Amino acid sequence: MSETILIVEDEPKLARLLGNYLSQAGFETDSVDNGLQVLPLVRSRMPALILLDLMLPGKNGIDICKEIRTFSPVPIIMITARIEEIDRLLGLELGADDYICKPFSPREVVARVRAVLRRSGPQAEYVSTGDLQLDGERFKATVRGRDLELTVVEFQLLSFLFSNPGRIYSRNQLMDRIYPDQRIVSDRTIDSHIKNIRKKISGVAPDRELIHSVYGAGYKFDAEIKS
Ligand code: CA
Repeated sequence: MSETILIVEDEPKLARLLGNYLSQAGFETDSVDNGLQVLPLVRSRMPALILLDLMLPGKNGIDICKEIRTFSPVPIIMITARIEEIDRLLGLELGADDYICKPFSPREVVARVRAVLRRSGPQAEYVSTGDLQLDGERFKATVRGRDLELTVVEFQLLSFLFSNPGRIYSRNQLMDRIYPDQRIVSDRTIDSHIKNIRKKISGVAPDRELIHSVYGAGYKFDAEIKS
């Protein structure tokens, strides 16, 4: 995978500012200002991460994010103009890896890019229990041989819970694990990711419930078959 960060931003000044900061931080960057240009570029150049503005000419960030998720787990950081939008976007379960609200400091963006790349970096582990298999190199989780098509964040959460079966993790512990050097956006972030993972598991195996919520405490992994 390249180390190119794709900047999707229609405000030229902001796109340039992001490009400059990311180059100084050692990243290659590509930049587009129209939503219609994004998908072809993602397919042809396979960027390492995408900074995706929500409001764009041509096609909006929500549709772009959904479409990318049909074929790629590439990390996506969505950029929104209003903090309230983040909650709405979480509710839509787009599969974005992080959210940043304008106005932001370019330094903060670089830190977030690094954090997302770090947690989506290659992990050579290949583990399995019963009918669940996790391939850390390709972020691929399968149940009974069927791909769950998890996003990178969903994969990280599932494999973290899986690494300590039966242990209960609070939402805050999971947030710290998934967003290590960041302020909390919303504690619903974790609930939203967990909900997606469960939906994907029950989509391929309706009788399996690998992640259990523990009322008032958090979540745990348990591979027991539902009775
Ligand atoms: Ca915009």
